[in-house]
Amino acid sequence: MAKNIILLGPPGAGKGTQAKRLETGRSMVQLSTGDMLRAAKSSGTEMGKKVAAIMDAGQLVTDEIVIGLIAEQLDRGAAGGFIFDGFPRTLAQADALGALLAAKGTRLDAVIELVVDDEALVGRIVRRAEEAASAGEPVRPDDNPEVFARRLREYYKQTAPLLGYYYAKGGLTQVDGMAAMESVAAEIAKVLDKA
Ligand code: AMP
Repeated sequence: MAKNIILLGPPGAGKGTQAKRLETGRSMVQLSTGDMLRAAKSSGTEMGKKVAAIMDAGQLVTDEIVIGLIAEQLDRGAAGGFIFDGFPRTLAQADALGALLAAKGTRLDAVIELVVDDEALVGRIVRRAEEAASAGEPVRPDDNPEVFARRLREYYKQTAPLLGYYYAKGGLTQVDGMAAMESVAAEIAKVLDKA
């Protein structure tokens, strides 16, 4: 049965890594607004130009833009369900997602918080940038300690309130994001199987 889940957690918590594993393992579809925005930015669309500076500064782009991106993708459907990665990031986005899913006759089956240690995150981001550079891949301009600090602040200010929002709805499960990648994946699998 298709399951729709949100992976919540600060930047660098491992949401993208875990989402990719679920895609291959369960025919789920990862919807990462960060990836969609980066694609728009690098292909130089009007929208991409509009968001470039905001993203490079580690700030959030408008709700309207990201909600529009998600609405388009939901229309394509997903056999195994959707994994929302980096969306929603504000309460307005969370409300909009609920409404979009309801309009499609579906809903969220689980919201998983990857719980991580802030100090460790900075290390992960620096490593992510170094690994990309050594593999000859482009380094994200927002993967540096200064911009990362801004992204983390945005997370606490705008996104962390979603933890209370989903907890109150009864669908929030915490997973230790500091564990090894395999254990995190196993914990997420357990949550999905129960949902
Ligand atoms: P991410 O790859 O999820 O870390 O996103 C990279 C950047 O894209 C963020 O720092 C924001 O500038 C922007 N972004 C991604 N998703 C959202 C969202 N749901 N709402 C607002 N801005 C977003």
